[in-house]
Amino acid sequence: MSHGFRSLDEASVAGRRVLVRADLNVPLREGRVADATRLARLAPTLRELADKGARVIVCSHFDRPKGRRRPEMSLAPLAPALAAVLGRPVRFAEDCIGEPATRAVTLLANGEVLLLENTRFYPGEEANDPAFAAALAGLADLFVNDAFSAAHRAHASTVGVAHLLPSYAGRLMEAELAALDAALGHPAHPLGAIVGGAKVSTKLDLLGYLSVKADVLLIGGAMANTFLAAQGIAVGRSLEESDRHAEAMAILEAAKTRGCEVLLPIDAVVAKTLAPNVETAVVPVTAVSPEFMILDVGPETIARFEERLPALRTLVWNGPVGSFENPLFSTGTLALASAIAAATESGRLCSVAGGGDTVAALNLAGVAEKLTYVSNAGGAFLKWLEGKALPAVAALAA
Ligand code: ADP
Ligand code: MG
Repeated sequence: MSHGFRSLDEASVAGRRVLVRADLNVPLREGRVADATRLARLAPTLRELADKGARVIVCSHFDRPKGRRRPEMSLAPLAPALAAVLGRPVRFAEDCIGEPATRAVTLLANGEVLLLENTRFYPGEEANDPAFAAALAGLADLFVNDAFSAAHRAHASTVGVAHLLPSYAGRLMEAELAALDAALGHPAHPLGAIVGGAKVSTKLDLLGYLSVKADVLLIGGAMANTFLAAQGIAVGRSLEESDRHAEAMAILEAAKTRGCEVLLPIDAVVAKTLAPNVETAVVPVTAVSPEFMILDVGPETIARFEERLPALRTLVWNGPVGSFENPLFSTGTLALASAIAAATESGRLCSVAGGGDTVAALNLAGVAEKLTYVSNAGGAFLKWLEGKALPAVAALAA
């Protein structure tokens, strides 16, 4: 792999204390883990370390306690959940630094696993405070970062400790970086990209980066309205950012210069409101009446993109192309999801998707498992897609 970090293959961990940064932000319902997907994906790293005789110390943030101890944001319920996934006991320390943590680490035998309390109970975590980082690092001999989803933040437990201990990427981090590298680092061309979602303003960097990297760029969702409006097309009452027209035109210009073909919607599903039983119509984007809103891409737009799919070797996708939460406007997004899944299954296409709502849409379409890689790492995934360095990954290379 092209990244300059060490993997677990290079770590000698038997009998050593290994601090593992995980992302344990799983949904909790009444104090119980409602979805253990994240834990299952983390298990290989923990199991490998324990099997090799390491003393495994797991740390993570949980939710946003803002530097205070908040019992409802304790990681305590995660210890039994992790134990169930690993099939071995997991101890819990009621603090992530200080005497309770030190004592728990001292009691740890080779091959045993300990979970520390929420790192964000201390303000030093998010501030990347050197003293807090040193206290965490002092618990261990080695550091393994397996929290790609937290890698866009320079916090004490992601960046601070990596500068204080010999550091390695965990297996999940390694897999995520390999998948993203295949998709954008050294993609097989032609590379297609789909960008949707609500606002151009939140994805300017992404659009700018993809418009020079991709060979075909489909822009959908409400952000496409801004591109249409910038070109003088009347979009009625559609969500649209009139203060972003210059940026939209600059993106189109950059794409043209670099030979990236931009597909904007040619037809749309429109309605007067988002009500569940509202009347809808399919119209060309040039025929949207003043009282209507564009809420999904139309069938001709989908067909036009699907025509391009068989030629593509790589596809990246972020952002639903319609207001998919309402079934009346989910057709475009679901059709794209199915078409991408089918192209991937046929073996030619490497498809990578991510983003909170995009993953929800893929699950709704029932095809999340059929893509090459689906990232659950919202913010970190987007930052990577924008071509930016992730501080915690960079820290592993140091
Ligand atoms: P992700 O979470 O995958 O990064 P975003 O948060 O950027 O995606 O965008 C998802 C949101 O965009 C959804 O809530 C969806 O309803 C909204 N959206 C998409 N198309 C439209 C549209 N035409 N009009 C209004 N909202 C839209
Ligand atoms: Mg979102």
